[in-house]
Amino acid sequence: AKSEGKNRYVVHSSELLNVMMDEYMLEVDLRRALDNDEFVLHYQPQINNNTGKLVGFEALIRWQHPTLGLIPPGKFIKLAEENGLITQIGEWVINEACSQNKKWQDAGMTPVKMSVNLSTQQFLTRDLLAFMEDMLERTAIDPAYVVVEITEYMAMEYEYSIQVLEQLKALGIGISIDDFGTGYSSLNYLKNFPIDYIKIDKSFVSEIMNNEKDAIIVNAIITLAHNLRKEVIAEGVETQEQLDFLKSHHCDISQGYYFSKPLPADEIEKIYLEQH
Ligand code: C2E
Ligand code: CA
Ligand code: CA
Ligand code: CA
Repeated sequence: AKSEGKNRYVVHSSELLNVMMDEYMLEVDLRRALDNDEFVLHYQPQINNNTGKLVGFEALIRWQHPTLGLIPPGKFIKLAEENGLITQIGEWVINEACSQNKKWQDAGMTPVKMSVNLSTQQFLTRDLLAFMEDMLERTAIDPAYVVVEITEYMAMEYEYSIQVLEQLKALGIGISIDDFGTGYSSLNYLKNFPIDYIKIDKSFVSEIMNNEKDAIIVNAIITLAHNLRKEVIAEGVETQEQLDFLKSHHCDISQGYYFSKPLPADEIEKIYLEQH
């Protein structure tokens, strides 16, 4: 069996080696990306469904690779999680997003919230709170305009997660459950975690007009959230019909290509600073 395994390896070795080399090179590049200032944030507007007004942005990372071009997070976040770089990258994201928001407020933009995605590791890092406190002081951003988006990994260290969230809340930071309804997100969170927002995953939103089950689930999530005094954000809103459905079911906030794709800071400024 051992020699068979070895043969199989030989047969695929060049292909496997290529993949390994590509991954290895990407990892080498990723380690340099922070120092070389290659990450950028794009900001996606979040719109209040009642007023039609901008109420927030979600910061989404991209990697401006020197030779490969703009790489989406789906291609490197997992790698960064595996090699531990995610904590540093995540700290960069929070700093950048919050100082950008402060700059916009200082330039006269109507103050809005800035949401950042927290990865598992970053959330479970013992210095997250100290980092956040320090960040608030450094950027001078009002914590009322900071929101962290977290996912199902809270289940991994239940008691610890509740503690961390309570402390984040005590700092004045908002908390949002991302990708709600997928993965391991459970109703327990709604009961025990100090959550302000529920984000309905785009996999539900994209089907609300074609699939009755998705429509029923979305409707139920909204009702449940509201009864628990939480606000609902719909992700991945692409059409007028989807928006109409969400509005008629009293979803609070929408985010998606229907309004805008995520945009670099200068394009956000063209739209929202000139309006002022
Ligand atoms: P997510 O947090 O669920 O973010 C929503 C994703 O849906 C984003 O993809 C966004 O560009 C995309 N999107 C927004 N509106 C629409 C729409 O109307 N239709 C469709 N089809 N897609 C839409 P993106 O930017 O590629 O990010 C993918 C994932 O990468 C994010 O999913 C998030 O989990 C992760 N991510 C992004 N930035 C960060 C970050 O700074 N830190 C961490 N830890 N993860 C990040
Ligand atoms: Ca998110
Ligand atoms: Ca996510
Ligand atoms: Ca999602």
